[in-house]
Amino acid sequence: MALIASAPKIPLGLLAALCLAAAPLRADPLVYVAIGTHSEDPGNADTGAALSSNLGLYGNFRHGIYLLAERMNSLGIPWNCQNDWNFLEGCRQWEIDNPQTFPDDTGGLNMIRWLRQVRGVEIDAHSHEGFGYNYADVAWLLRTQFGVPACPAR
Ligand SMILES: [Zn+2]
Repeated sequence: MALIASAPKIPLGLLAALCLAAAPLRADPLVYVAIGTHSEDPGNADTGAALSSNLGLYGNFRHGIYLLAERMNSLGIPWNCQNDWNFLEGCRQWEIDNPQTFPDDTGGLNMIRWLRQVRGVEIDAHSHEGFGYNYADVAWLLRTQFGVPACPAR
């Protein structure tokens, strides 16, 4: 007595049709990509210092953000940029309260407004809740200083 049933017989023509139908799926797979990033507070490695008190460091960080935005835009990749207070306070200091000139052209907009309005980047709050800032404080900065709505329309 056989313990394993024999495999069902599939007509060769049906098998060929199934293989041909599946072939386009294997030949051209679609990959959907979206990127989410955090900028951090000085307690984390990406900035290392308060950007609002160091114009050179802010300018370098801003340049990196600008290049990333241009690259994402050229590749058509949606980007959700989540910022802790450090970059936002730097932007407020060097682009709103004490405006400086930077080599990357943002058409007169500060970097947060340029990311959102020109490059279509989603801007959200991020917080490690340190240095006297919590999530609500970061969200307040985004709303009041940069015009980012509390619940962005999607
Ligand atoms: Zn973080």
